[in-house]
Amino acid sequence: MESRFRELPSVNDVLDDERVSRLVQEFSHEAVLGLIRAEIDRARDGIRNGDSPLRLDVLADAVERRAAVLWGSMPTPVINATGVILHTNLGRAPLSDDAMEAMRAANEGYGDLEFDLATGRRGSRQGRVAQLLCQLTGAEGALVVNNNASAVLLGLAAVASGKEVIVSRGEAVEIGGGFRIPDVLRQSGATLVEVGTTNKTYARDYEAAITENTGAILSVHASNFRVMGFTHMPSLAELVELGARSGVPVLHDLGSGCLLDTAQFGLAHEPMPQESIGDGASLAFFSGDKLLGGPQAGIIVGKSELINVVSEHPLARAVRIDKGSLAALNATLLHYLKDEAASKIPIWEMISRSPEFLAQRAESWRLAIDGPTSVVPGKSTVGGGSLPGETLPTSLLSIDATEMSGGASALAANLRRSTPPIIGRIDAERVLLDPRTVPQDLDDVMVRGIFHAL
Ligand SMILES: *Cc1c(COP(=O)(O)O)cnc(C)c1O
Repeated sequence: MESRFRELPSVNDVLDDERVSRLVQEFSHEAVLGLIRAEIDRARDGIRNGDSPLRLDVLADAVERRAAVLWGSMPTPVINATGVILHTNLGRAPLSDDAMEAMRAANEGYGDLEFDLATGRRGSRQGRVAQLLCQLTGAEGALVVNNNASAVLLGLAAVASGKEVIVSRGEAVEIGGGFRIPDVLRQSGATLVEVGTTNKTYARDYEAAITENTGAILSVHASNFRVMGFTHMPSLAELVELGARSGVPVLHDLGSGCLLDTAQFGLAHEPMPQESIGDGASLAFFSGDKLLGGPQAGIIVGKSELINVVSEHPLARAVRIDKGSLAALNATLLHYLKDEAASKIPIWEMISRSPEFLAQRAESWRLAIDGPTSVVPGKSTVGGGSLPGETLPTSLLSIDATEMSGGASALAANLRRSTPPIIGRIDAERVLLDPRTVPQDLDDVMVRGIFHAL
């Protein structure tokens, strides 16, 4: 075995390889050395497992590929052909042109982020966006933070730390990615008081749980699941009425910040922040990158008295929003103000795509590809913890993989290896590609990718 180890090229041999010296020029000697050592270690492990020693060119190749994976820009842009519009693993909402431009401008140089140009004194990064949010939702005050998970944590910590928070059993849920309402409550320093049952909770259940120690009533929108059948939940307005009688603030975690009525797009109605405010919620929490269609952000709107309490809590600084996201959020909100959200914000544009347009796109892909393809009716989903079970009719390019070695999963893997990677859906022995989430100007790229994958 020792002699086999000696057959491996040395670190210096690999360093002398032309491709590797190019890497050294682009990155650094130190950095590349680390990669070479790791690859040689891997090759030694291989020898221990009975592999033959790697030749110099194979090792250099491995180092080059490793560098491309580790030291390329990230994230790698991909074509989302899953038909899931808010795909959390693919980065949720793509931004509008205006939002991207605002983000770039904010990051490129200096700006009056926390500076008052009129007085020359310190200003607030929140001011302008908060005002827009108030105008769009009817709230008295607003605060923007890093994401909605931190918004909820901050809100609970500021309003109910050391006190009890009443939550329906049916809403003490996991939102996703390990974000569980009972855990968040504990982290905020509040105590969870669960009332009702999984399927039925009445206003009187909340009422019976109110004590002098109650800090808040928390209502959580079931954004990623649906309870059907024998169910009851009090309306937000009922909870607000109860809260008002008992002097208890009502907090509403909406999840998605849907400022347009989804019913106009043929979807079920998703609760809207302006409705929470209209119903009298003390604070409402929602995400910037779900149905708002903007950057990652957490938004809190509500009564100015409580917004002040939340803003002054030490955690507010810890979950502060960055200037790029703030700029993009401002630009996204302006689309709503100008009443152009449905056409300018990519997620709404995708939701609005007509069945005829989608059928024609899928058909054009099929015609351009010589292979076992067909166009079949299918369903796109909104995703991202919004509108569970709701679908939009679409047309899919279906690629039959029964005759291919490795079947549909091998074909899907091939598609993921194209440039840019194409992400589709596997359905038994077929790979399904949905034009709804694919920008039209990528049709040619898409067709080329599918062609190569086949
Ligand atoms: C998505 C969601 C969150 C978390 O929002 P992020 O912006 O992802 O942090 C919290 N609550 C509900 C109800 C959600 O749907």
